[in-house]
Amino acid sequence: MNMTPAVKEPRHCGTCTLCCKVLTIEELGKPNGQWCPHCVQARGCAIYSDRPNECRGFQCGYLLWPALGEHWLPARSKLVVAFKPDGMEIVIHVDPGVPNAWRAEPYYSEIRNMAGNAEGTATTIFVQVGRRVIVVFPDREVDLGVVAEDERISIQEEPGTRRRGAVKVKANDPRIV
Ligand code: SF4
Ligand code: SF4
Repeated sequence: MNMTPAVKEPRHCGTCTLCCKVLTIEELGKPNGQWCPHCVQARGCAIYSDRPNECRGFQCGYLLWPALGEHWLPARSKLVVAFKPDGMEIVIHVDPGVPNAWRAEPYYSEIRNMAGNAEGTATTIFVQVGRRVIVVFPDREVDLGVVAEDERISIQEEPGTRRRGAVKVKANDPRIV
């Protein structure tokens, strides 16, 4: 699937600050779903020039992915699409204040389309609401529930089938590659 960061007309955050709520920032000890204490609502980061590397490395799908229409503006959609640097994960972080925002249309259909386009690639689509994670495959969703801090998600072919599945495993499990 084409995830080339190539929006022709650069988008801007405007008054959106939602990534500063939904993302985990380990360097600050900030869990996902809680506003960062450095976030100034509707304005941005109060420590921008000194913000953590995790913040600097965040790749916002709305800003970078032209396939996402204007309606995906996070402040409006309540959804923050994040690309992992290795390109193997697209995580749709949902504002926990609106936990079903991802099921609203047209977002839900577009998320299902993302999963369909990812079929046959190494990319997996995740929806994250706080610590709850749902993995979206083309033919179904796998709701893993709360993923604890010492757990990870392993994507693997289900026994006896040719379809991918998702399971929670401990962080030291050898199935994690
Ligand atoms: S979620 Fe995206 S658009 Fe919103 S503030 Fe963060 S980087 Fe900007
Ligand atoms: S440090 Fe700044 S950019 Fe990072 S989460 Fe906090 S407010 Fe947002």
